[in-house]
Amino acid sequence: MSTKTPTRFQPVLDEIVAILRPQLGQGGTVASYIPALARIDARQFGIALRTCDGEEAGAGDFETPFSIQSVSKLFTLTLAMQRMGDALWERIGREPSGNPFNSLVQLENEQGKPRNPFINAGAIAVADRLVSQAKAKGGSAKTDILRLMSSLCGEPIAFDGEVAQSEADTGFRNVALANFMKSFGKIDNDVAEVLDTYFHQCALRMSCRQLARAAAFLCRDGAHPIAGEPEVTGERQTRRINSLMLTCGTYDAAGDVAFSIGLPCKSGVGGGIVAVVPDQLTLCVWSPALDATGNSLLGMKALELFVARTGLSVF
Ligand code: GLN
Repeated sequence: MSTKTPTRFQPVLDEIVAILRPQLGQGGTVASYIPALARIDARQFGIALRTCDGEEAGAGDFETPFSIQSVSKLFTLTLAMQRMGDALWERIGREPSGNPFNSLVQLENEQGKPRNPFINAGAIAVADRLVSQAKAKGGSAKTDILRLMSSLCGEPIAFDGEVAQSEADTGFRNVALANFMKSFGKIDNDVAEVLDTYFHQCALRMSCRQLARAAAFLCRDGAHPIAGEPEVTGERQTRRINSLMLTCGTYDAAGDVAFSIGLPCKSGVGGGIVAVVPDQLTLCVWSPALDATGNSLLGMKALELFVARTGLSVF
């Protein structure tokens, strides 16, 4: 992996850490639905970025690995778009849900077709597509996911086995979502196999530095972060992923996030958020305490500060 450091952004990241550090542990709550997340120290904050020409910068706890949770939905969508192109959209919509990420309510009216790939139902439907694609080649979707993440980072990425097991032990709503979609004929594979893939993708462990790198193709019209590797997605597909992140990437807070930050973002309940400034850079912020919508409280503040300090925006 070729990287150039430091970047002109390093002072901005240092300033954001200095501003936010006194607020650590002062608001929001760490996800508590599984022990491995409940015991995480809320007083952590990291920020890292990678520019479209390969410069990297980081500050705070940017090297600390965490559970990426729903940020993974961005990468499984990428994999499914690579494999299936537009056929993917026969099973999955592209509208913001305006509902919590694990909501069941819209699925009945919409005949088991999830609103978008970034809510749980949508990501489970994407996982089903990945299982089918992998099976057709005698492979495994979990291996495909690890291969993509490791290739994008230029270093090995792994699942956290304890988190994956806890997701399976407590994922009653996800089991319900998968079975409900299956009842409409919208899941092709065995529900247990699809959920095993979904629970593992949620359990990917990565740092801010690794996630900023892994998402770097999104600020480079789909070009792989490592020189010489084939493109990750075409220009048109990349634009589509960014627009879905803007409209649906932060669940029912997406409108507010577009208003106050104005960047395509994808968040997870582990406290990570990936954000993209097309043609400029990708950013990852992490702080485990969440607001009521399940997005990192200080992570969102950090993105607001970054946009205010740099004037970077898609608008
Ligand atoms: N593992 C969590 C779930 O499936 C992921 C949710 C999230 O990060 N928003 O509910």
